[in-house]
Amino acid sequence: MKGYKTVIGLEIHAELSTKSKLFCGCDTTFGQSENTAICPFCMGMPGTLPNLNKKAVELAVKAGLAFRCDIQKISSFDRKNYYYPDLPKAYQITQFFRPIALGGGLEIFDKFIPIERIHIEEDAGKLYHKGENSLADYNRCSVPLIEIVTAPKITSAKMARAFAERVSRVLSYTQVCDCKMEQGSLRVDVNVSVCPEDSNTLGTRTEIKNLNSFRAVEHAIEAEAKRQIALINGGQRVVMQTLHFDDVKGKLTVLRTKEERVDYRYFPEPDIPNIELNDEYIENIKKSLPRLPHQVEKTLVEEYSLSTQAAEQISEERATAELFEAAALSTQNIKTLTSLFITELPRIKRANNKPCLLIPQEIACLCNMVKDRKINNNAAKEIFEEMFLTGKKALELAEQKGFLISVTQGDIELAVKEVIEQNPVAVKQYVDGSQKVFGFLVGQIAKKFNGAADPVKIREILEKALNK
Ligand code: ADP
Ligand code: MG
Ligand code: ZN
Repeated sequence: MKGYKTVIGLEIHAELSTKSKLFCGCDTTFGQSENTAICPFCMGMPGTLPNLNKKAVELAVKAGLAFRCDIQKISSFDRKNYYYPDLPKAYQITQFFRPIALGGGLEIFDKFIPIERIHIEEDAGKLYHKGENSLADYNRCSVPLIEIVTAPKITSAKMARAFAERVSRVLSYTQVCDCKMEQGSLRVDVNVSVCPEDSNTLGTRTEIKNLNSFRAVEHAIEAEAKRQIALINGGQRVVMQTLHFDDVKGKLTVLRTKEERVDYRYFPEPDIPNIELNDEYIENIKKSLPRLPHQVEKTLVEEYSLSTQAAEQISEERATAELFEAAALSTQNIKTLTSLFITELPRIKRANNKPCLLIPQEIACLCNMVKDRKINNNAAKEIFEEMFLTGKKALELAEQKGFLISVTQGDIELAVKEVIEQNPVAVKQYVDGSQKVFGFLVGQIAKKFNGAADPVKIREILEKALNK
């Protein structure tokens, strides 16, 4: 908005893909019946002791390396003390004084957004509010999280959204987090302030908590920046507040006002030793990192001459990009391959909530059949969908469906003659200059062959016949 600039910092919470919780053996699987994945430790029983999950440390280091942070050789846990019904211990174990990773960042829209820190912490339980009652499910207590905190250097709602999307992609690629926002395994808090365009002093910020879609991230920031500017223009001031954003109604509501910082009485967790990591450990994790999304994107552009947009779409999921590259090894027909991945694959996934059974060699075979004019493009699309759902072979499906082009020139000429005779009105319109009916006539002819005739040939022969 004119006259003001928006400043944004993100805090991204990502649940780590471990089988068990951060300090006890409880199962982290999502969606178990309420209060069944709990034990004396995560229920905060006195006298219980935490036992740090090594896999969680490994995944946090992996994330740190993927975002080019400095992994700290010594880090430690602290207690953040507060009472809330979703937190039976009345404190959260987190890394406040010495987080596991510092520095790092990500490039978004050609701007480098610094990451200040990544720390490990435990999640809290979940509350369900029903009328006057609230119900607590403690299954999520002590599920391991990392929190990624950016510097206040993001300058638009769109940039914030792109940043969060990019973070999510990196976390999925590295299998640090499954990033299912609808299940809450990735949650974003946004900190927003506005200040005059020429100012170097940051304005007072508000925080919008627990956004669980990328769309909500963008819309919440837009709404909040607008609200703050309106306040200032109306002679009022912005106060430190924690807000909630309803994405459906597009409405912000105040959860609490915190004129002064809450004092969490942080102190070092006495029951967990420091995390001490050596170079070899860090180096081994570095070696285990897969290619990251931006690297895959670059490869797709350079090796297969894809547009950046196509490369970005195909590299959105690691498995998709790998499938594409594996198929591309056995076909020269990258054009068909790309179009199947860009337009068909997303549609098929949306229409069928089923696992992908595509086999790279068979996708390549399908593209080769198109190139050799054994099947047409529409047939390829239909076969591709069937291959996705059944895992069947391309050639087998083409035969089964009668898509193999075995139609001769003579067959088409005959069909053209018939269609011309059967549609005198359309033919007259064409002769009178209407191009539109040409497509109609092509369609009539194609119908006779059930799509098995090459449409390019049909057009050729029809045009000749009509021009006579
Ligand atoms: P807290 O721990 O209280 O949430 P931090 O100082 O750790 O506070 O900051 C949390 C987030 O708020 C960071 O992402 C930071 O970039 C962001 N932030 C801090 N100041 C501002 C501001 N004035 N405007 C926008 N974001 C800010
Ligand atoms: Mg915060
Ligand atoms: Zn437990």
